[in-house]
Amino acid sequence: MNKREANDLAMRRIRYLADLSMRQSNIRLAQRYVSIARNIGKRMDITLPIDVKRSFCKKCNTPYGPESVIRLKNRILIITCSVCGDRRRIPY
Ligand SMILES: [Zn+2]
Repeated sequence: MNKREANDLAMRRIRYLADLSMRQSNIRLAQRYVSIARNIGKRMDITLPIDVKRSFCKKCNTPYGPESVIRLKNRILIITCSVCGDRRRIPY
C-alpha cells in the first residue's frame, strides 16, 4: 500500500468513526469513537476534515449534540460543550 492509499483508508476510517460517534447515544462510546478517529489522524499525520474537526469537543471528545449551546457574538460562533462546559470559538 502506498502513502496515498494509506491516507485514503485512514480518511475513510475517520469519517466512519465520526459518523458513528454522532449517532451514538452512549456518551462514553461516542467519546471513544472520536478519540480513535483523532488517534488515526495523529498517527497518519492527517489534518481532520474541517466538518469533522468542528463536530466534537476537543477537551472531552464528546460530539456536539442538540444540547450544546451555540451563541453568536461579534462574528464569533461560541459552542459550549454540554458535557465538560468547554467553549469553542469559531470566527466566521
Ligand atoms: Zn467537552
